[in-house]
Amino acid sequence: MAIAKLFVALVVLLPGSPGRAEAQETRVRWFGHAAFSVTTPGGKVLLIDPWLSNPSNPEARDGKDPLGSLARVDYILLTHGHRDHVGDAVAVARKTGAVLVCNPELAGNLVKLQDFPAKQAETDAIMGIGGEIQLADGEVTVAMTPAVHSSSVFNPKAGADEPERAYGGNPAGFVIRIRNGPTIYHSGDTAYFKDMETIGENYSIDVALLNIGGHFGMEPRMAAKAAQAVRTKLAVPQHFGTSPGIAQDAGGFAAELKRLRIDFYEMRPGETITYRGRQLIKAK
Ligand SMILES: [Zn+2]
Repeated sequence: MAIAKLFVALVVLLPGSPGRAEAQETRVRWFGHAAFSVTTPGGKVLLIDPWLSNPSNPEARDGKDPLGSLARVDYILLTHGHRDHVGDAVAVARKTGAVLVCNPELAGNLVKLQDFPAKQAETDAIMGIGGEIQLADGEVTVAMTPAVHSSSVFNPKAGADEPERAYGGNPAGFVIRIRNGPTIYHSGDTAYFKDMETIGENYSIDVALLNIGGHFGMEPRMAAKAAQAVRTKLAVPQHFGTSPGIAQDAGGFAAELKRLRIDFYEMRPGETITYRGRQLIKAK
């Protein structure tokens, strides 16, 4: 694969001193479905849509505790309230003390209905679409971007006559800018929309993590169109292969990206890719 050769070339070209190189590395790990962690050069850990117990996650198999490998999480980012995105957020928050980053309606209902730790959900990291916040003493800037989808939050306390889904605010995506690191776009579960071009105009996206499973979100052809709209340097598929409704593989997405001449990389669940500055240096 041409892109694999490119990575090898970059590793050879940019050896650096190990200590300094490590300090400038950003690691992006996929747990399957829409769940990713981002570890910054400063060592802060952001967890996005942490459904860690999803069936694709190798850390969740054979009776393993999917939270077992999480030594540290500083922030939990939720694109919307659906169960396959909120996932294990409450358990992670309790275990790690992580601060919640999402819209106020979702945050409020997670506290009230799912007992998310209130102190971690009532900070100035609660935000709305169009806003940008700084995290980790300014090392990370998070922008909340629009998404065309729905958002509700499961209410395990609902009585027999009450709806089991409460309001979850508007669904969103995130653009995550890392100082001395890449700019990452996570699409959430959005459909393709033409204004994705605005995201591409406003940010220089290094890697776009795009939902491609169809049925509830973008079909692969439109996900490739989204990659083009946000002008990403690299497109990585997510939100596929985890349930029968979104069973398709990434082949169609890859083929369409090839036609559009956009770089593609398919991560395996559990895999980490590493950036040094804004250069992808290691995949696998
Ligand atoms: Zn979803």
